[in-house]
Amino acid sequence: MNETFDTKTLRAMDSAHYMHPFTDTHDLAKTGSRIVTHGSGVYIWDSEGNKILDGMSGLWCVNLGYGREELVEAAAAQMRKLPFYNSFFNTAVVPAIELATLLTEVTPPQFNHFFFTNSGSEGNDTIFRMVRRFWDVLGKPTKKTIIARRNAYHGSTVCGASLSGMADMHTQGDLPIAGIHHIEQPYYFEFGQGMTPEAFGIKAAGWLEEAILSLGPENVGAFIGEPVQGAGGVIIPPPGYWTEIERICHKYDVLLVSDEVICGFGRLGRWFGCEYFGIKPDLMTFAKGVTSGYVPLGGVAVGDRVADVLIGKGGDFNHGFTYSGHPVACAVAVENIRILQRERVVERVAEETAPYLKAKFSTLADHPLVGMTETCGMVAGLILVKDKTNNALFSSSDAVGMRCRGHCFQGGVVMRAVGHRMIVAPPLVITREEIDRMIRLIRTALDKTLVDVRQLGLVA
Ligand SMILES: *Cc1c(COP(=O)(O)O)cnc(C)c1O
Repeated sequence: MNETFDTKTLRAMDSAHYMHPFTDTHDLAKTGSRIVTHGSGVYIWDSEGNKILDGMSGLWCVNLGYGREELVEAAAAQMRKLPFYNSFFNTAVVPAIELATLLTEVTPPQFNHFFFTNSGSEGNDTIFRMVRRFWDVLGKPTKKTIIARRNAYHGSTVCGASLSGMADMHTQGDLPIAGIHHIEQPYYFEFGQGMTPEAFGIKAAGWLEEAILSLGPENVGAFIGEPVQGAGGVIIPPPGYWTEIERICHKYDVLLVSDEVICGFGRLGRWFGCEYFGIKPDLMTFAKGVTSGYVPLGGVAVGDRVADVLIGKGGDFNHGFTYSGHPVACAVAVENIRILQRERVVERVAEETAPYLKAKFSTLADHPLVGMTETCGMVAGLILVKDKTNNALFSSSDAVGMRCRGHCFQGGVVMRAVGHRMIVAPPLVITREEIDRMIRLIRTALDKTLVDVRQLGLVA
């Protein structure tokens, strides 16, 4: 790529006209964006020519890495053939039919029907409507409330943000909407210290039972959770948590929803996160990795229990998007899944890549700023601490995570900061050499962060 970019002009245009998501656009204008121009494999390049190892797979989605010609070709071929037709009025398009069929192969056996959206947020909005419709059709219209967790991320539409457990989102726009209840997250570091992880798993799942009993089981329709919380900072639940959650859902006849937008399509070394944790959800949300992010697509896997009611007894389901089952998005998803199968990507994650990431990432635990490291499949997180002897955290106003993130970017690796947690979720196709390089770059960034916090007098 020899294309040159006028970064200064692009930045001026950017701050004049482009309102960024989840950004203080006014603040951003002072520094200007980093403008990403192209990518190949696990690397991206910015408009100033810097090569950066993308430790976040774009935004948890570019699972096959950048520059896969087969995906480009799948999109181009479909655009030439039929760029768009809808599935509303007794019509269908070939790629959507193919994708729904292929998904029955790779999802757990209870899933035989699929509804398509453009995003994970719309997938969760769809689930909200499906859950209510399900109980209505069964003559139990009071089973409306959906229980979710604090610090969960389920998207940014009104319903997605309401299901999410992010205080910063709820305070803007008077959320959550009615009918959503939050329980505490299963975060061992915050709530489990001094307990065995197993005991904490049972305790944290018990918060669901308490909530169901206080709301009344006749009023609770579903529980939704991410197998591993992503945007909340890679919160990996303790062993036993999910099976206990499932037991409680069964006991009170509450639908179990697994938001697989990050964990789905191989991220944990199984096709879906629910398989990793050994549970059988009734509904799953997917997006991101379904197309490796090459084009937007999301959707809902509808378990037989729900499909039997919605399809078997429900009649018209008055819901859908213009682009539900968009042929180009579905064609790319089909090719993406075929590549995952052909190249045994999910198996390779389980057998080779994830164990290697775990071994290498855990070496960072000896760093003076690192309280603990955790990995699960191809997600990993570490906690920045002020004092390793007692795991004391920096105050949030010190913005140590943001400093560390800045040093990562400057040094050539994307790592995300979530409060005091630093996280990565690299492309599933990352090699051992690239993992080694990523860990070296992270260590250098931690060293630079340590120099900063010493200079600021935040540590001795
Ligand atoms: C990203 C994400 C969503 C929202 O997906 P969008 O495509 O951004 O709407 C929902 N759930 C989880 C777990 C996510 O990570």
